[in-house]
Amino acid sequence: MPFEESKDISGAKELLLEKTLEFYKMNGRKPLALVRSFGCQQNVSDGEKLKALLDKIGFGFTEEPEEALLIIYNTCAVRENAEDRVFGNIGQLKKLKEKRPELIIGICGCMAQQEHIAQKVKESYRYVDLVFGTFAYNDLYQMLWKVMGQHERVFNQTDKYSDINEELTQLRDDKVKAFVPIMYGCNNFCTYCIVPYVRGRERSRKPENVIAEVKKLVSEGYKEIMLLGQNVNSYSYGFTSLLREINRIEGDFRVRFMSSHPKDAGRDLIDTILECDKVCKHLHLPVQAGSDEILKAMNRRYTVEKYMEIIDYARAKAPDFSFTTDIIVGFPGETYEQFCRTKELIKRVKYDNIYSFVYSRRSGTPAAKLPDDISDKQKGLWLRELILEQREVTSEWLGRFVGRELRVLVSGDGRKGEGWLTGKSGEDIIVEFKGGRELIGQFVNVRIVKAMNWALEGTVL
Ligand code: SF4
Repeated sequence: MPFEESKDISGAKELLLEKTLEFYKMNGRKPLALVRSFGCQQNVSDGEKLKALLDKIGFGFTEEPEEALLIIYNTCAVRENAEDRVFGNIGQLKKLKEKRPELIIGICGCMAQQEHIAQKVKESYRYVDLVFGTFAYNDLYQMLWKVMGQHERVFNQTDKYSDINEELTQLRDDKVKAFVPIMYGCNNFCTYCIVPYVRGRERSRKPENVIAEVKKLVSEGYKEIMLLGQNVNSYSYGFTSLLREINRIEGDFRVRFMSSHPKDAGRDLIDTILECDKVCKHLHLPVQAGSDEILKAMNRRYTVEKYMEIIDYARAKAPDFSFTTDIIVGFPGETYEQFCRTKELIKRVKYDNIYSFVYSRRSGTPAAKLPDDISDKQKGLWLRELILEQREVTSEWLGRFVGRELRVLVSGDGRKGEGWLTGKSGEDIIVEFKGGRELIGQFVNVRIVKAMNWALEGTVL
């Protein structure tokens, strides 16, 4: 039964609070929830919203399934292996539910938005209590009360979205870097992508709300603000104006954003990045493929030459401007010759990093109707070839920083072993250096001494 047809439950929040208080009285501690996010930054940000809602009704949090009263897997639908991973993880919870029938298991997010997934869970994972999609977060208390108080299973795949709820805050685990969504949904319908179907059309948050949130985060000591949207360049109230406004906020912090669609990223974006001192000098510009035929089949609505215009414009103004990208290998019908043009593009652009994936068919998308005619083995070989090409390009290109000083936000222990720390420069490049752990969460200036194919190495000044 769709959720809207079920009976209304007013006062669900209060009823849940009573339940958690009762638990507290009996056990001397809060009931614990485990919220695990499996996808992109937007997905992580949604997970933080769920945690904030649960916090308000008296839940504490854990990473251990054994001690949780509520487990919610916040899922991603972009890749098939993410889906397989979620079902694998849910399968492992069956024994736990048999041992502790009071355990509540929920699945939410992009994957749970899809009817066929809800159906699969309904029939084959009968111990899962709650399945809700990306538009149902506002109903969390009502759904949870139906499960906890009325012992019913709930399936809520509504695709009706209301206005953005500014009351939904986030409970962030990270105290240094914060994700701030500025818009939701996507209007682009790239043929391989499920996002417009599971997250709906674009809706933008009002700039005053975004700015107020950033100001608050900066006052709380956050050092990096990542503005999120599927295509920030189509932010309704003007993305470059928003960046300039945020840049005016006082404090020692930096701003990143993700993602930009190349068809909408213009010269004004580059000018704004270069003119705003708090905005990182880096642009993640997903190209996806290096041949015009495949870009057309993907409905990306730009050509390689159009894409290069923005790269050339940036590099003419700032020769070492940093670009990163996403690439899909083995789109239906792609020939080896077309794939080689993607490799050519990597050399031409000189990316600081690429995030490459083999094409994975998503049912419900237009590309799913095309014959997936390239074998997994072939896709795997192309991916390897692409990664090798990128490593060569990147290790040479990163060399431009050797001898220079970069400002790095220290994020944790380094990969190079004991005594090493790691962080990222404004150009979004990993920098490893020796230093004390008290520097974690701080900005430090690092003199670069060496370029590797995945990172830079330096010494703290
Ligand atoms: S721009 Fe294309 S790839 Fe990105 S979320 Fe929208 S439809 Fe998906």
